[in-house]
Amino acid sequence: MRVSVLGVGFDNLTMDQAVDRAHGIMKKGGYIVTPNPEIVLMSRKDKDFKDILNGADMVIPDGIGIIYGAKILGSSLNRVTGIDLACEIMKRLAEKNGRVYLLGAKPKVAEAAAENLKNTFSGIVIAGTSDGYFEDSEPILKKIRDSRPDLLIVCLGAPKQEKWIHSNRDKLPPCLMMGLGGALDIYAGNLKRAPERWRKHGFEWLYRLITQPSRIWRMLRLPVFLLLVILERLKEAKKTVGV
Ligand code: UDP
Repeated sequence: MRVSVLGVGFDNLTMDQAVDRAHGIMKKGGYIVTPNPEIVLMSRKDKDFKDILNGADMVIPDGIGIIYGAKILGSSLNRVTGIDLACEIMKRLAEKNGRVYLLGAKPKVAEAAAENLKNTFSGIVIAGTSDGYFEDSEPILKKIRDSRPDLLIVCLGAPKQEKWIHSNRDKLPPCLMMGLGGALDIYAGNLKRAPERWRKHGFEWLYRLITQPSRIWRMLRLPVFLLLVILERLKEAKKTVGV
């Protein structure tokens, strides 16, 4: 049973459960999406995108806004961010010399991320890297096929990355695919994550706003999201009392 927040169903999983499930998906092939409030809002205007999100093998809530949204709607969700989940998956993958392909971000970023990931998760094999600014997917698909990854991290921004995964998943051998937004910039060290304490208290969004003020327009969608959730809650309450 998924927890629905404005039409997107989220899996309520602990980190350990999510990692176990991710490794199961890896064997048969499938994809994980990590929607935040901005992505949920995008999906309201794009039915195909919403279907792609809901059709994922695992949907995890990235962003404290989703946790609050679920709470307002009367459900609870564990927060498992995409970037942390990918790290835990790689930690386990490293034990068996698993293979990871990094696709996305500006030229050279995936290579820098690869170096850092190899140092952090000793044993991991970086099967290949490609930047995210390409016209034709075919040469990239060939490169990915030839490199036989267990995990394919796709960072093209939403909804491009989820759409790319969805339309190309059948052209690739079974592996776990994850759309992870700006994760490669973070793994490469070009962008800093909020300090642990900020993250723990749900202020990662504020840290991003301070360090990347140009995101203000994107972030202004958070109050819009919360307002829509409150309206949804009121609609449901009305239904319950039969008004
Ligand atoms: N990107 C890309 N190809 C594109 C558009 C974007 O590789 O055609 C990359 C961009 O360089 C960045 C990431 O996708 O590394 C998107 O980051 P964003 O900040 O939008 O993601 P968020 O973390 O907010 O989901």
